[in-house]
Amino acid sequence: MPVTDYPLELPPDDRPMVRFMNVSKSYGQLQVIKNLDFDVAEGEMVSIIGPSGSGKTTVLRILMTLEKINEGVIYVGGKPLTHMPQNGRLVPANESYQKQIRSSIGMCFQQFNLFPHMTALQNCMEGPVQVLGLSKKEALERSEELLRMVGMIDKRDQHPSRLSGGQQQRVAIARALAMRPKVMLFDEVTSALDPEVIGEVTEVIRKLVAEHNLTMLMVTHQMGFARDISDRVCFFYGGSMEEEASPDALFGNPQRERTKQFLSAVKEAV
Ligand code: ADP
Ligand code: MG
Repeated sequence: MPVTDYPLELPPDDRPMVRFMNVSKSYGQLQVIKNLDFDVAEGEMVSIIGPSGSGKTTVLRILMTLEKINEGVIYVGGKPLTHMPQNGRLVPANESYQKQIRSSIGMCFQQFNLFPHMTALQNCMEGPVQVLGLSKKEALERSEELLRMVGMIDKRDQHPSRLSGGQQQRVAIARALAMRPKVMLFDEVTSALDPEVIGEVTEVIRKLVAEHNLTMLMVTHQMGFARDISDRVCFFYGGSMEEEASPDALFGNPQRERTKQFLSAVKEAV
């Protein structure tokens, strides 16, 4: 259906925090996301699992507006993100509209991407001051509270090069949260970590799930962790959502052949 036929906004009684509506994404000839329909409810923790190259990172990157989609519309909080209303129809979103809707989304990547020339505290304060226009004092209070939450307040004045991978990743989570997102995206945030520090990062995510009403979308290779903390698990294969279910159903009683194969392959690898 042409984009002009999509709803200008979602009706109040059917308004998930995130909705992918018939979304496709190609790189040249290669279609990496295929007509994806996908909702994430407010406050829901959804994990995405699947083989390498199945499109998991791409799903997060297009939601973060780091990549443009070729078909369909993404809605956040009921409002279009990839598009904007104009004269009663949807047209591709311009930069300033997209920035405004996107401000409710935060993301942490596999590679810690802290600003190397800033301390942990300065990393957290930068966005709130520069982008949100908070005073230094407000940004300081907010950042200290978050650094405390992730157990990094003692290292507030250290530069990233003086921190371990796990510590950097915890600061990166605090920095993303300092922007007060409604939706947090995590892309394999533990994959680049030494095994002994994975736990300190997963503990922070666990705490977020338990104590905050954040909507979260997490790509992970840690099946046990996904099973533990998710409300729902989605298995991606070849750019499509092959199967989605509660963690116990998806891990305990997968329905699709590809899901079964993937889960038994990762089990053998452990
Ligand atoms: P996953 O995160 O599940 O491993 P990705 O979303 O990173 O998968 O990639 C999905 C597919 O898109 C892969 O085939 C990958 O090679 C391709 N791809 C990702 N980014 C690009 C890009 N910038 N240019 C071309 N192809 C890309
Ligand atoms: Mg990936």
